[in-house]
Amino acid sequence: MKASRTAFTNSIAETQRHLAYFRLNYFKERRDQIVSTIRELVEIESPSDNKAAVDRMAEVIAGKFAQLGGEVRFHRAKDFGNHLQIDFNFGGKSAAKPVLLLGHCDTVYPLGTLATMPCQIVDNKLTGPGVLDMKSGIALMLHAIAALQHWHKEEAGHGAESRGELPRPINVLLVSDEEVGSDSSRKVTEALAKRAAAVLVLEPSYGRQGAVKTARKGVGGYLVKVTGQASHAGLDFQKGVNAILELARQIEKISSFTDLKKGLTVNVGIVGGGSRTNVVPAEAEAEVDVRIARMKDAAGIDKKMRSLRPFNRKCKIEITGGINRPPMERTAGVVALYEQAKAIARDLGWKLGEAAVGGGSDGNFTAGLGIPTLDGLGGVGDGAHAPHEHILISELPRRAALIASLIEAI
Ligand SMILES: [Zn+2]
Repeated sequence: MKASRTAFTNSIAETQRHLAYFRLNYFKERRDQIVSTIRELVEIESPSDNKAAVDRMAEVIAGKFAQLGGEVRFHRAKDFGNHLQIDFNFGGKSAAKPVLLLGHCDTVYPLGTLATMPCQIVDNKLTGPGVLDMKSGIALMLHAIAALQHWHKEEAGHGAESRGELPRPINVLLVSDEEVGSDSSRKVTEALAKRAAAVLVLEPSYGRQGAVKTARKGVGGYLVKVTGQASHAGLDFQKGVNAILELARQIEKISSFTDLKKGLTVNVGIVGGGSRTNVVPAEAEAEVDVRIARMKDAAGIDKKMRSLRPFNRKCKIEITGGINRPPMERTAGVVALYEQAKAIARDLGWKLGEAAVGGGSDGNFTAGLGIPTLDGLGGVGDGAHAPHEHILISELPRRAALIASLIEAI
């Protein structure tokens, strides 16, 4: 009995490995097609602060998803590009909860960057603005969905003309303002996440081995504004109240809030103040970046920032801002999703690692709602937001195979 059960288990494992091998080959054969989709997307520049440009990008992407039978919907935004939602939902007939594929079509690069940072292939690298963060991720979504339709058509034995049905409903959301804080899209992201069985975020993976991200820090931003009293530094020195001096003391205090053991960091990143060297400065301000690893630390650091009081009582101090993205914590739901991905990767012949990172993404919002979220499933490469941004072309097939199989397995 025991022996036959073992044999049965072995044969399932064998079948899984055969399937993985077949799928990996499928994408290896289509690697150049994936590369050409990525190139097409990179060559349409889409900086977050240019609505017309991001809208154009979203229209092109919408067309590609529509060709696969997706139902396209734009969430209009006034000051940012429109957010693009695509549903593959069988007309609502399937009882399975959808998987949400999440990403963004904006980049940090201003229009014209392609002139100095062209999209080109150099050995195994594909370069260009946003190629890693995250136009390769969008291309992987498209090719994974197309492949699932192809594989399921073959199973159902339809004719060559027809498109197979997906194994489950899929929602895709590509927002236009991720690189500038996602204020405009957050509600849409959260509403879709609440309906989803899980959220797969196709932001760049971590490191050369392509680890997925199972934890991200939460992010906050504060502006600390100090008002003193201006006076002539020579004639009326004692009548002045130096706002810069007050701010300097505040900066020492603010910086002491950092608690590395808790993964809590406070960085005063920008300071400004004063008008001339011969004037006692009446105004000074600092911009502060706060990162938290655990949601339970959010209220505490927020309270500390808001409780700042002037050392010199003749100064006024004003604090604005708050925690913008909750941390993505490594919850049981996140771990279960990672384990599924790891098992699929194992069948594909590689060891999928995980990483905790300091940067936030829209995955922070969905994980914050308690929806199992796996981030960093997109391209493998280096140099996000930097002149040497690139992806590794050889990693694309197994990435696509992982995503497709994961959509099915959840
Ligand atoms: Zn990104």
